[in-house]
Amino acid sequence: VQRTSEEIRDEFLRFFEEKGHEIVPSASLVPEGDATLLFTNAGMNQFKDVFLGSGQRPYTRAVDTQKCLRVSGKHNDLEEVGHDTYHHTFFEMLGNWSFGDYFKREAIRWAWELLVEQWGLDPERLYATVHEGDEDLGLDADDEAAELWKSETPLNPDHILYEPSKENFWMMGDTGPCGPCSEIHVDLRTDAEREEIPGRELVNKDHPQVMEIWNLVFIQYNAQPDGSLETLADQHVDTGMGFERICAVLQGKSSTYDTDLFAPILQATADLCPHDYVRGYDDVDTDEAGERERVRIAMRVIADHIRTIAFAISDGVMPGNAGRGYVIRRILRRAVRYGYQTLGLREPFLHTLVDPLVEKMGGQFEDLAGQQDYVERMIRSEEESFLKTLGTGIEIFDRVTPYVEQASNQSGAVLDEMRDDGKMMDLLQKAFVDASDRDEMIDDFAAAASQGDVPGQIAFLLHDTYGFPIDLTQLMAREAGLGVDMDAYDDLMQRQKDRARSASHFDVDQSEVHAWQEISDGESSVFVGYDAIIVDDAAI
Ligand code: ATP
Ligand code: MG
Ligand code: MG
Ligand code: MG
Repeated sequence: VQRTSEEIRDEFLRFFEEKGHEIVPSASLVPEGDATLLFTNAGMNQFKDVFLGSGQRPYTRAVDTQKCLRVSGKHNDLEEVGHDTYHHTFFEMLGNWSFGDYFKREAIRWAWELLVEQWGLDPERLYATVHEGDEDLGLDADDEAAELWKSETPLNPDHILYEPSKENFWMMGDTGPCGPCSEIHVDLRTDAEREEIPGRELVNKDHPQVMEIWNLVFIQYNAQPDGSLETLADQHVDTGMGFERICAVLQGKSSTYDTDLFAPILQATADLCPHDYVRGYDDVDTDEAGERERVRIAMRVIADHIRTIAFAISDGVMPGNAGRGYVIRRILRRAVRYGYQTLGLREPFLHTLVDPLVEKMGGQFEDLAGQQDYVERMIRSEEESFLKTLGTGIEIFDRVTPYVEQASNQSGAVLDEMRDDGKMMDLLQKAFVDASDRDEMIDDFAAAASQGDVPGQIAFLLHDTYGFPIDLTQLMAREAGLGVDMDAYDDLMQRQKDRARSASHFDVDQSEVHAWQEISDGESSVFVGYDAIIVDDAAI
């Protein structure tokens, strides 16, 4: 029998409930009272105070599924999404916790019991990693965990691997609760493939079919701002299992996108456009296969991003110009661009995907279901604004890139050609506002273009007038095999901020400033003043 995602989630919760764990609700994606974090990135965030000894709960064992976003800060998987088979920007992390109660032995034994004895995973496909120690941190290898894998489970000892801190010392951010961890990886390749290369050589190597599913973290330290580790009073267990990933494994799929969690959203997307979502992975050597893969990537990105956008909005984040709101706006515009350019979706469409999402996940996350209408309206209005300028922005981008491409190969003749291209010259005049004459403008263009970079001035124009977040322009440049001159872009951004700051000394209605700061609340939020807001409003 194949389990649905609802059943898998439920079985996880029940398994640990039977072992004395209290089932607790997911916390919000917006961390409460934690200035070190933009978005909740792991199940343990809501228990940070318990680990540090400053907070208490009426239980010492807990289990839950936690909504997580990994789009900023220490854990950022945005670039992976759509291209690989198992990273998402939004995902659910199933977790069990011990607060100064059980430790490594039970965590390891129960992980095995659930995965192998209850869910029937093939032990020959499982690998466990342990921390190899770290001189800089003054930590020895975690032989204790390795020994427990041997004594508590029948795992093949060849499948126990020692890994460095980068993989096996878990930290929530630069500071805070942390400790060595033991991770469980699964090898989903065919038998023939497994014969050829042993799975142990592919663990932690970004292989599409050899993925990490569960991390058992043994929290014992509090990382200090100077990098040193302070030992905590108690020892805790903090585990995180990728829900979408375990669903893929238990449903016999080679990708999280092929599970019942994503299928309805991918189907709804495919229904909107002339393309089907085709499962699997082509060798992208032929044009046809390359095109098929481009379509798949676009659909996967959209299916991923709609979850991030909808859940963030339902947790109170409003798309906006700064802080958390800007992260969500960026992701939304990224999804809209993939739809527009790759799938040919020229009308607002993202908001229509909230319905299949709520259908699938509204039962578990009632906040989302209850706000469906609001979430849809918010997304729709964001789409409408961006679609007003997206087409022109893409035209500008497409006008510029052939010149950049050519200039990076051989410069002279291209620039002469550019001089005769009236529309291109008009465009350069809008972008290179600092150049004193045509020649300087062309020289500045050539300087960036000869390096294979889209000039920062163009990126700034796209941002400022057409609402293209810089990472979107970078993504489009990357797709064209180009870079972006970030020094010039950063310089223009900085100057805009300075201008706005001096302008904001005049005539500022403080009540509005506070309203604005509230919306843009977030660690990276900067109050950029009215100029920038007005400019950006005009842009969208
Ligand atoms: P990976 O090495 O695959 O990036 P990780 O080591 O960064 O994962 P952890 O911080 O250990 O992940 O998080 C616990 C679990 O959450 C992982 O074992 C994995 O199953 C899941 N997970 C982590 N990042 C993602 C993601 N971006 N999308 C889906 N699941 C994820
Ligand atoms: Mg990761
Ligand atoms: Mg990892
Ligand atoms: Mg991990």
